[in-house]
Amino acid sequence: MSGRTSISKVRPKAVAALFCLALLSAVCLSTGRVGAVERSLRGELKRVLILHSFGRDFRPWSEYARDIKAKLERQSPWPLDIQEHALLTARFNNPGPEAPFVDYLQSLYQGAMPDIVLSIGAPAARFAQKYRGRLFPDVPLILSAVEHRLINRADLSDNDVVVAIRNDFMAAFGNILQVLPDTKSIAVVIGASPLEKFWVEEVKRELQPLGEGIEVVWYSDLSFEEILKRASRLPPHTALFWGLMSVDAAGVVHESDIALRSLYAAANAPIFSYQEPFFGDGTVGGPMHMIAETSSRTVSAAIGILGGAKPASISYEPIGFAAPRYDWRQLQRWGISESRLPPGSEIVFREQSIWERYRWQMLLIASVILVQAGLISGMLHERRRRQIAEVESRQRLAELAHANRYSAVGELTTSIAHELNQPLGSILTNAETAELMLRAASPDIDEIRQILADIRRDDQRASEVIRRLRSILKKTPFEIKNIELNDMVREAIGLVRAVADGRRITLIYTPVLADLHVRGDPIQLQQVVLNLIINAMDAIFDADPGKRQVSVSTLRVGNVAEIRVSDTGPGIAASDLADVFNPFFTTKPQGMGMGLAIAKTIIEAHHGTIGAATQPAGGALFTIRLPILH
Ligand code: ADP
Repeated sequence: MSGRTSISKVRPKAVAALFCLALLSAVCLSTGRVGAVERSLRGELKRVLILHSFGRDFRPWSEYARDIKAKLERQSPWPLDIQEHALLTARFNNPGPEAPFVDYLQSLYQGAMPDIVLSIGAPAARFAQKYRGRLFPDVPLILSAVEHRLINRADLSDNDVVVAIRNDFMAAFGNILQVLPDTKSIAVVIGASPLEKFWVEEVKRELQPLGEGIEVVWYSDLSFEEILKRASRLPPHTALFWGLMSVDAAGVVHESDIALRSLYAAANAPIFSYQEPFFGDGTVGGPMHMIAETSSRTVSAAIGILGGAKPASISYEPIGFAAPRYDWRQLQRWGISESRLPPGSEIVFREQSIWERYRWQMLLIASVILVQAGLISGMLHERRRRQIAEVESRQRLAELAHANRYSAVGELTTSIAHELNQPLGSILTNAETAELMLRAASPDIDEIRQILADIRRDDQRASEVIRRLRSILKKTPFEIKNIELNDMVREAIGLVRAVADGRRITLIYTPVLADLHVRGDPIQLQQVVLNLIINAMDAIFDADPGKRQVSVSTLRVGNVAEIRVSDTGPGIAASDLADVFNPFFTTKPQGMGMGLAIAKTIIEAHHGTIGAATQPAGGALFTIRLPILH
């Protein structure tokens, strides 16, 4: 009973387990990743052994290895187990015994051979070739990032693939002479390890065709410290050629990239190298080995072999330098013109111009400046228009004032005729008297002389009247002069005095006892005074003859000159006070209503004011105020 019960209890669990299994397999089939996990569970994990030459961070090989590893991991359809070992011994001048390292590797991989061995750089290639029989028999080997001269071709087997590079020192030096044609001397920085010594000899051999034209200086027998010292004091037209610096002549081991940065900081000459891993750290550039080319070939060979391809079926020609590339910052620093670069060159690390970097800000500033310039030119244009309008309005005013003067002079005709008649009459009388006297037997010469003097005086009086009349009727444009106000008012009074006398009006002029200099148009200001006096005389026309009085006075109040014209007429009605200066306001039957309007415009054009009031005792008072000249 209990067994049955337990069976019935177990059954749902079994169903659930079956369901989970089905689900898992469905998920596994649907995703490649899980498919890979599944395959790895079936034993398809690929084991890759990478052998570094100097150390995992030693340029240039470190950069090749990094790129190869990254590409391999990305492109491999199988899960990978990548093991890495570095042949540190290659960094010393006298490599120590390799046996312990060989033993170590042997114990590691005994019975668990890698699927492929990848060597990076020449020392690793040499080591792999030397010990592969003992360590990894039958394991395919890829010798990568190794100069073709350093491959032991005799020991190559069907199980090997070589991804070699080819150094071309003539091309590298030719590049220096191409971009810096004035170069006289090239200092070569290559260390003193056995490998580096090999390269010194190779460079020397390859450069033989260069001849005597260029002096090549070798730094391989110097400590790096000494190299830095020399590099800081190089004569002009010298370039530095950066080969490799793993061990210097003093036996000091260097990390190449750190050494290159120190050299760059110290050197007073441009540095050239043919390796991409050094490019960007201070070298000028030129034709160079590009990491990507080597790493792509290495990875495609590795994946091919891991997938079952025969290594013997994969063969590559050594990879030469890629198209030249230059560091824009270095071109700037050493004044190398872009026109010197060979065709097809690429320039990298170009610094953005201010325009490229601050494009939006510059656009904004430029548009603000543009708007501002537009506003300013608009304002200037407006100002100019205003000036033109002002000049035009002054001319109009001058013309209007001239017309108004004609009408004023019309009123003065009697006075003028009288003023002219008087001297002309006396001249006639005096001339007749002189004639009579000359007929006498013994004419009184003194008397005649006196008469002639009177004639001359009267003639001058008549000419003066005509001069004044002409001046007031003269059609002149608005012109600014220095004016003495007392004289100007006196002259105006002279023009109306005869009219006043004829109308039996007492015309009193009280000038201030000081000069009143103002700036303005004398004819126009005189016209204003004349208008006020004529208006005053008109206003007292109906008054008793004994009470007809017009008073004109000048005053100085601070920096202001005042001209006051008052009369004993009825004054101006309070309701009209605000309107008397308006054009066409008149209370006279024949009036035009323009006199005061023109007077106000003239005074305001002289930066002054004009006001009207009725005096407490009756009679109008007009006051003109003008700024005094200092
Ligand atoms: P018009 O003399 O042709 O009338 P004005 O502009 O010279 O034109 O004067 C406007 C008006 O102001 C006159 O009609 C007059 O009513 C008033 N007015 C001007 N001067 C005086 C004054 N001294 N006394 C009284 N009223 C005056």
